[in-house]
Amino acid sequence: MAEPQYRTPKGTHDVLPEEQRYMTYIKKAVRHRARQAGYKRIDPPMFEDRRIFERGIGEHTDIVEKELFNVSGKSADTEGEKNASFALRPEFTAGICRAYVEHGMQQLPQPVQVFAIGPCFRHDRPQKGRYRQFHQFDLEVIGLKDPSLDAQLIHVITNIFADLRILDRLTLQINNIGTAENRKAYVDALRDFFIGKERQLPELDRSRLKTNPLRLLDSKEEDTQILIKNAPKLTQFLDEESKQFHATLLDYLTTLGIAYVENPGLVRGLDYYTQTVFEFWDQSTGAQNAVGGGGRFDGLIELLGGKPTPGVGFAGGIERIIWHMKEAGVQAPHKDQVDIFVAQLGPEAKKTCLKLIADLREKGIHTVGALGEASLKSQMRLADKFEAKFALLLGKMEVKRETIILRDMAKGQQKEIPFEGIIEKVVELLGEKNLDTYTLRDQFTGPTDD
Ligand code: AMP
Repeated sequence: MAEPQYRTPKGTHDVLPEEQRYMTYIKKAVRHRARQAGYKRIDPPMFEDRRIFERGIGEHTDIVEKELFNVSGKSADTEGEKNASFALRPEFTAGICRAYVEHGMQQLPQPVQVFAIGPCFRHDRPQKGRYRQFHQFDLEVIGLKDPSLDAQLIHVITNIFADLRILDRLTLQINNIGTAENRKAYVDALRDFFIGKERQLPELDRSRLKTNPLRLLDSKEEDTQILIKNAPKLTQFLDEESKQFHATLLDYLTTLGIAYVENPGLVRGLDYYTQTVFEFWDQSTGAQNAVGGGGRFDGLIELLGGKPTPGVGFAGGIERIIWHMKEAGVQAPHKDQVDIFVAQLGPEAKKTCLKLIADLREKGIHTVGALGEASLKSQMRLADKFEAKFALLLGKMEVKRETIILRDMAKGQQKEIPFEGIIEKVVELLGEKNLDTYTLRDQFTGPTDD
């Protein structure tokens, strides 16, 4: 095959039909568990004013410093937006908190619980499990603060992972990084500790010491790790409230039967976190392959111009979840099966089949039809390739006799039966409960989600 002229941009991928069945299954689990716990869906735009990410996530984080995709276009030049600069969302939390402030959601009963599912964008160096466009599901609980909310959020997530049959491949790592004040005191102490030792740090960590010293705690560099062992510990700087909050949260997790690993080195890369931080790690390979992470962001809404408002949230990486499901041998069920393949020969048969196909589909029967001019034999080969359960064959003779041939593809047996009543016959063979009328009904009773 010739090399294609165009390909997907580096770090992006097509979500092909085989992959969609996993996507759909995951979205379904998320929607189901989220609704069960009172979360409502929100879809912030895919791009926002850059400052929302800079302020919220932090200017000296990897995400903002290196990974934001700028968006340029005519919209940036329109009246009132002259100085606006946009970026594709690298995650959901900052945009959702912007929406909370913008739409006055503090007037709603608190906490406001919302969830989102969709693509996010980070201009990172692509590698396995790290893409420039990837998908996240996101859960946020905003407006109230209590360790039971953190515990409930984590419970919803563990339920989702259990539904997807990957929970036993993951460990919940959890830490409390204190309030902004605690962290400031700690960061000062950390900087003091490193005075005179800067040269022993690898270059990247030396610059992090200036811009985002907490990142030294989860540095992958061996030299840094050795130095950190003797550095002051964040736990020594936590206030009583944070310690108590953490102890209560751990107690609640135990009550809910959720296993966790306390990890004092877990800080998460983003500025907005306060107190609770957690991640779900791949048991076998560790942090690099976290399938998701989250925490408390009690200062974020204020940073974005709202009143001080607490919040806790989580984001899971869908591509990494799919990878785990495949590793675990989980087959995502799907509804893409072909029930009926309709084959025909001759202009009269073609017309009759065109109508028959439409009527079968209307009944909720997955129907594909070969309406080309190929021989019946080659149409049967096609029916086989589509893995159709049954085939209906209509040739010139059958049209004359007002019959149709019904073929059981698995058994390879066929018989000629009257054309009249064929739809009822097919419904009987497939079973009423297997008809795909679900989406149709759903559209009338509630909102549709993709
Ligand atoms: P974060 O908040 O950065 O920890 O992201 C939450 C989750 O999103 C991660 O645990 C990953 O599963 C997923 N994720 C983040 N960045 C990427 C990426 N570049 N490619 C694929 N998945 C990602």
